[in-house]
Amino acid sequence: MSSKKIVNIIAYIFIAVILIFVFTKGKPVEKPASSEIYSMNTICDLEIYGKDKEAALQKSVSLINTINGIVDDFSPESDVYKINENAGIHPVKVSKTTIDILEKAIQIAKQTNGAFDPTIRPLLVIWGFKNKNYRVPTEEEIKAALKLISYQDIVINKADNTVFLKHKGEGIDLGGIAKGYTLDRIKEALDNFNITSALINMGGNVLTYKNPPNSSVWRIGIKNPRGNGIRGIITVKGTKFISTSGDYERYFIKNGVRYCHIINPKTGKPARKIISITVVSDKGYLGDALSTAFFVKGKEFALQNATRFNVGVVGFDDKMTPFISNNIKELITIYNEAR
Ligand code: ADP
Ligand code: MG
Repeated sequence: MSSKKIVNIIAYIFIAVILIFVFTKGKPVEKPASSEIYSMNTICDLEIYGKDKEAALQKSVSLINTINGIVDDFSPESDVYKINENAGIHPVKVSKTTIDILEKAIQIAKQTNGAFDPTIRPLLVIWGFKNKNYRVPTEEEIKAALKLISYQDIVINKADNTVFLKHKGEGIDLGGIAKGYTLDRIKEALDNFNITSALINMGGNVLTYKNPPNSSVWRIGIKNPRGNGIRGIITVKGTKFISTSGDYERYFIKNGVRYCHIINPKTGKPARKIISITVVSDKGYLGDALSTAFFVKGKEFALQNATRFNVGVVGFDDKMTPFISNNIKELITIYNEAR
């Protein structure tokens, strides 16, 4: 063995001794099992603590991939693709998960008077949000697409596990509910493992699970919708779902007008009443779908309906003025400027 090698080995032992010393002296900080994956058109960050963290992480990632495989309307293998392809032709056999998401989507559609509508797809297509060739469609195109938007045309047959869209040209899009629904399923999965804490973020749809390691509250930043940094903090205790919808992630600007990816199913045009809204909820699917519905309906509706849905809301109206529902006022800090 060369003398250089011996020096290296001694150095390693020395470093190992220091590490052991530091770890045994200080309070042990557990490393989370973590992963960052791209799925459901967004970045998903997972951080899980506790004895079963590795197994729970594996299960969570697999849930994300499985549900993405169901709702991905570009993949010919997906249930949503098959339902859309066979609109007006015949019912399609689908998974139980697809039926579960659709039932929940229809429930929110009814409760929001169709502000949330899972049959929004034809409108997303004509505005170019599906192929990213953004464009302002003609009034005729909008009128024609509006005729195809109707959640009442989703026919679910639970005995056969089939779904049918009544008319040709109709199409389902679950982009406004799938991430929140997936977080519900992840939460359920975590309950069956020995997990002390977890934070799952799917592109602005967040699950806080139990409390953070070394703290009794989670502090979740409210993104600045017009620029970098954050405009506030939401303080939450324990397991919650926090969903944000805004006009600043997916949009285009034409002749000085901003057109975003959330479309008002009544007018056929991108919603523009507010800039962003965050919903704090005990149910992931509910928070996700409601953030989209409230974005369409605007500030007054959101504030008036928050308690009815047992959720809290915080957002910015079209003048960037913040608004907060009374039931979560004490949980919110808003900064005058981005930080
Ligand atoms: P994000 O997907 O950025 O988290 P949302 O939860 O608000 O934001 O979902 C927006 C997505 O929902 C759109 O990209 C589209 O797929 C779909 N969508 C757009 N408008 C509506 C609507 N009125 N009802 C239901 N889904 C919608
Ligand atoms: Mg949403």
